[in-house]
Amino acid sequence: MGLKAKINKIIKFSNVDGPGNRMAIFFQGCNFNCEYCHNPETINICKECYKCVEVCPSKALEIYNSKIIWNKNLCCECDQCTKICKFDSSPKVNEYTVEDLLAEIGKVKAFIKGITVSGGESTLQYKFIARLFSEVKKKWPNLTCFVDTNGSLNLDNIEYKELVENTDFFMLDVKAWNNSEHLLLTGKEVNSVIKNLYFLRDIGKLFEVRSVIVENRLDNRLIVENVAKAISNKDIRYKIIKYRHFGVREEMKSNLFSPTGIELEELEKLAQKNGAKNTLII
Ligand code: SF4
Ligand code: SF4
Ligand code: SF4
Repeated sequence: MGLKAKINKIIKFSNVDGPGNRMAIFFQGCNFNCEYCHNPETINICKECYKCVEVCPSKALEIYNSKIIWNKNLCCECDQCTKICKFDSSPKVNEYTVEDLLAEIGKVKAFIKGITVSGGESTLQYKFIARLFSEVKKKWPNLTCFVDTNGSLNLDNIEYKELVENTDFFMLDVKAWNNSEHLLLTGKEVNSVIKNLYFLRDIGKLFEVRSVIVENRLDNRLIVENVAKAISNKDIRYKIIKYRHFGVREEMKSNLFSPTGIELEELEKLAQKNGAKNTLII
């Protein structure tokens, strides 16, 4: 039996998931639980409570052998199923083999620069990704393979060697610098994230770092200053991302505020002053 991965969504052409036009593959499942997660339906694997089947207006969901089957052709993308799900999951998840994904990539290979795996947290399915990237490189050496990660796995560990070797570049989220803030925001400690920042920088595989700026919640200056110092004078892009309510769970919104444009510009200047020349505000 070949490796299989749970995939939430595939975007055939994306220009926000790494350089150029790329296929973005969103894996289901994440080991963080960020308060500001914009795709909370990607966090957990379905618990098979079947609540979503009852609310689907298009009869696109069926129970078969205790599993939910999603009929994409009937789905009207109303999102009623993910809204009602109490487990931060989605019934619209499909299992793919490496061969299935290679077939999807093959259909668009002439129009893309590469593929990016994202999530959820794609690296949790690292064996699958290592094999996928290795096959992509054999078949289409012109395509680049990128990983978008929350930095939770210790990528310098021998266990992840194949993943790191087959990945051209990583894009890393640094959500907080202070451990207690990171714990409160994500439910997990920050150590591995900071370790990965230095490790990926030192092996020349860090394409981009991203920090979401939430007002009155995080020590944003501490985050930006330390990330900027870490990537100073390297060809690594730093995205300072304004927190927005879009997609965030209703119950979380009351604690989360967007920074002002002036504050973002000050953070951009701080990053540049500390050596992150390629900084942009999103
Ligand atoms: S997606 Fe959510 S609501 Fe639907 S069956 Fe799974 S856990 Fe239940
Ligand atoms: S988005 Fe969910 S609830 Fe809406 S039609 Fe599709 S499967 Fe059904
Ligand atoms: S790491 Fe990303 S996908 Fe996971 S909970 Fe945080 S924002 Fe959501």
